[in-house]
Amino acid sequence: MKKRFIVAAAAAVPVARLARSFASSPLTAPPPLPDSIPIPEAKPPADLDVVAVPTGVNKRVAAYGYRGGSFFEKRDFNMGAVLIRHPSGDLLVDTGFGRGIDQQMTTMPPLFQRMTKYEVWKPARDQLESAGYDFGRLAGILLTHAHWDHVSGLPDFPEVPVLVTEREKAAFDREGLHGYLGAPFSARGIPWRVIRFESGPYLGFPRSHDVHGDGSIVCVPAPGHTPGSIIVFVTLAHHVRYALVGDLVWQREGLTRLEERPWLVRKFADLDADGNRRNLLRMASVLQRIPDMIVVPAHDQRAFAEMTTLPNVITKGRIL
Ligand SMILES: [Zn+2]
Repeated sequence: MKKRFIVAAAAAVPVARLARSFASSPLTAPPPLPDSIPIPEAKPPADLDVVAVPTGVNKRVAAYGYRGGSFFEKRDFNMGAVLIRHPSGDLLVDTGFGRGIDQQMTTMPPLFQRMTKYEVWKPARDQLESAGYDFGRLAGILLTHAHWDHVSGLPDFPEVPVLVTEREKAAFDREGLHGYLGAPFSARGIPWRVIRFESGPYLGFPRSHDVHGDGSIVCVPAPGHTPGSIIVFVTLAHHVRYALVGDLVWQREGLTRLEERPWLVRKFADLDADGNRRNLLRMASVLQRIPDMIVVPAHDQRAFAEMTTLPNVITKGRIL
């Protein structure tokens, strides 16, 4: 009896520790970005726009997304793309689920497949076709990072260049990294274009890449979740600003409450959790200075609800 009690007690300690790692534990708020750092000027064209292309959802609970989230609160994680319309060339940021998602999922590790309950609404390519989109306008697909759920639709756009950082491409090419689809996915070839951060600091991030040279779409490196993750800042006319933060956080609470992903989730989801935390805090200090910036975590439906939508698109589901 005593022995059984000791075994149970020994098991209870790590279980309690594990449970605690899901509890709320906000990071210390950083100071706002100092006034000595200027808010960069942009000359956005009047018709620049940010358009939501939600392709489906992943069935999760809030606790999976951030510390302090409830295990009882169902959260459908957005899986989608963002179309940035710009007269010098449109960009699709990530792809969300593509036409081949079901087959791609069979190549992922069995435990991951069991844990991932997803629902496909309509792939980005099909949505753009329904909307009568002129594909000649699409200059590239810009990846916040190259995880499975962000690249799934690349084969549906074989003619479109894929813009990626050197470090992210290297991670994609390395076999066996968690979250990447690996060699079979890229066997048919992907028209990669490596982006370089040739411009100087931007909102406290050390380097940047100004896509069209007018300051309206600027990428900065934000490694952590993956080695080559980026944040895409978009400045529309009338100072409407978006920050497409990819998977820096999965839900807005990551930035509004400074709650990281729970330890167990970080363990398998983030290649460099410390790096991710540094960039999360950097972004938090930007938001203290520019509180009306619209933050778009790639998997937060509420963020996608704050964008323009495509005309004439009917999908199985819709943003809540
Ligand atoms: Zn993701």
